[in-house]
Amino acid sequence: MKESPQIQKLETILRSSKLVAGGFMGTDTRSSSEIIEADATQISRLGFTTKQITAKMQEITDIAKAALGNWVDLDDKNRARVDEAKGIIVCPWPHPGRFAKRVTVVNLIESNETIHWSDLNIHLIAEHGFFEGKGSTFRIEPDILAKIIFQIKL
Ligand SMILES: [Zn+2]
Repeated sequence: MKESPQIQKLETILRSSKLVAGGFMGTDTRSSSEIIEADATQISRLGFTTKQITAKMQEITDIAKAALGNWVDLDDKNRARVDEAKGIIVCPWPHPGRFAKRVTVVNLIESNETIHWSDLNIHLIAEHGFFEGKGSTFRIEPDILAKIIFQIKL
């Protein structure tokens, strides 16, 4: 299928290392729209919406942010921590979007599984449905994310 010039430009930006080391696509050979579609299907199979997921991610980030780099218990199963880094990162989509380089880490204590996301991840999922390509540093697997933040059995 012939992609529009705008989509082609976005694909180039997502695959370049200009904005983030390694780019947003990792080793994924699918197009961004194929990745977005596959993840959307998985999210709905799990019984969630991206809105529910990103609301929960933001809630966790806001709670952990207040603990200034220390672990904070979210409940008796999960704990979270926020690591702040200097600088900002911009959204690769063509609109103004600048985000602090803040990373939230959530640890499911019992199984010691960990997931991390940046403020940009929350935006990419909420606004663009984009969980990034497989192999990229900040790729988020929707099922692992849902398992950890909603404590569901997979
Ligand atoms: Zn954006």
